[in-house]
Amino acid sequence: MTLERPTIEQQIEHFDVLIVGAGISGVGGAYHLVDQMPGTSFVVLESQETFGGTWTTHKYPGIRSDSDLHTFGYRFKPWVGAPIATAEEIKKYMGEVIEENHLAPHIRYKHRIDRASWSSKEALWTVDATNTATEEKRRFTCDFLWMCQGYYRHSEGYTPEWAGMADFQGRIVHPQTWPADMDYTGKKVVVIGSGATAATVVPAMAKDVAHITMLQRSPTYFRAGRNAIEIAETLRELQINEEWIHEITRRKILHDQSLFAKRTFEEPETVKQELLSGVRSYLGPDYDIDKHFTPSYRPWRQRLAFVPDGDLFKGIASGKASVVTDEIDRFVANGILLKSGTVLEADIIVTATGFNLSPLGDIDFSIDGKALDFHDTVTYRGMMFTGVPNMVWVFGYFRASWTLRADLVGDFVCKLLTHMRGKNARQVTVALRPEDKDMPLLDWIDSDNFNPGYMMRGMHLLPRRGDKPEWMHNQDYWSEKDEIPATNLDDAAFIYR
Ligand SMILES: Cc1cc2nc3c(=O)[nH]c(=O)nc-3n(C[C@H](O)[C@H](O)[C@H](O)COP(=O)(O)OP(=O)(O)OC[C@H]3O[C@@H](n4cnc5c(N)ncnc54)[C@H](O)[C@@H]3O)c2cc1C
Repeated sequence: MTLERPTIEQQIEHFDVLIVGAGISGVGGAYHLVDQMPGTSFVVLESQETFGGTWTTHKYPGIRSDSDLHTFGYRFKPWVGAPIATAEEIKKYMGEVIEENHLAPHIRYKHRIDRASWSSKEALWTVDATNTATEEKRRFTCDFLWMCQGYYRHSEGYTPEWAGMADFQGRIVHPQTWPADMDYTGKKVVVIGSGATAATVVPAMAKDVAHITMLQRSPTYFRAGRNAIEIAETLRELQINEEWIHEITRRKILHDQSLFAKRTFEEPETVKQELLSGVRSYLGPDYDIDKHFTPSYRPWRQRLAFVPDGDLFKGIASGKASVVTDEIDRFVANGILLKSGTVLEADIIVTATGFNLSPLGDIDFSIDGKALDFHDTVTYRGMMFTGVPNMVWVFGYFRASWTLRADLVGDFVCKLLTHMRGKNARQVTVALRPEDKDMPLLDWIDSDNFNPGYMMRGMHLLPRRGDKPEWMHNQDYWSEKDEIPATNLDDAAFIYR
């Protein structure tokens, strides 16, 4: 006897809240719902086989955070290890959050969301997903959509097209899709890029390769230091409990970061010299710091990568790793021909060249049958979008840990849902108010303020912003930590039905 395959309609499941993604934001969102809104029905749909998001996708050698885990960790669960953590350590921590709060039954893995359609008549999202193992289609409905899908496409990284790539006889790999069978022992490796990923992969591979070269078009700022936080160490010596240590260490780190960020605007030259002298302390006076480690922009205009225990610089000082600052002319059979005329020989080329921005998980959205282009919307504090009902998005910080914002947005969602229940409202949409009528509409982020390549390439995919704090993602934790909790949900920007 053959069983009839159920049709999509027979499988519809309804939840109060549907969370997209089981990365640090989605797992955090699930925690906040359980903690603050007991009794709310919810599901987390995740296309990968397990939780972790970024920390599951990336498997390149040395993969680690570049933020400290006291602030990249949740505010509600102490981080007890060294501040810079490996992907495995972060996943273990997230696994504990799932276990301690009984979140596992709420998470469905291998569920890729393809479509989400809002119906104003029913005040409901209909979400179509595919089981990636069986290709089976599943349909869900929910009152509220909580977008925790991150900001880049997980399936493939960004690799520019260089002339001659097909001529190269070796292997080209992107760190985001690192092959399990990659053997680089005794090989000549060139890593293209100079961001946090390159700075991680170079020292991690250096000990096993014949030589590894970091090839960069232009230098990046790095901050080198011990992988430890002094105040946490002192408090541990004093046998203070871990909850207190977590909270005090977070406050100290945030305080220091705030001073640092302020200084990058007020005294950029002094900050620049401090960063460079950190690098010089590892590489010595004869190394050409000007050429290889002195960017043309002011510190913090792009993400500033932390180099724990100076491992990148130790690799360079040992002679196993080197940095070349030049431009690629073309790939050739045995490596890369540089514009200067030199050929960098390579068996393996690692393209640490960034991401493809995918602001909303490559999901086809529609509102009442009309396709939704997020660039037509204006963002409310980088969390909601004009004309898009019952949806909140977690987009974290670049200059502070992402999770600080995931926790703030978690509180905001719970407050908003409670407010809606109190008003008996089924729908909330943000809309520009009469006083916003003449507000200029700008790109998502000011490129003078922050301008990494993936953002610049994908700006047309992102919602727009206004010039008032409530109509932008200002990337400023230090103002938002007070402003978001104080949001007046009866402000005219919120329309309830
Ligand atoms: C290598 C690397 C290192 C980083 N280090 C730091 C750091 O140290 N500090 C910091 O603050 N930030 C860091 N970031 C930024 C980082 O991505 C975020 O901080 C954070 O991990 C994002 O968490 P998230 O849960 O919001 O998104 P993600 O980690 O991107 O997770 C999103 C999840 O949603 C799932 N998903 C997406 N679309 C769909 C769909 N259509 N259907 C179903 N599921 C879907 C994905 O599979 C994924 O599991 C780093 C980024 C990278 C790539």
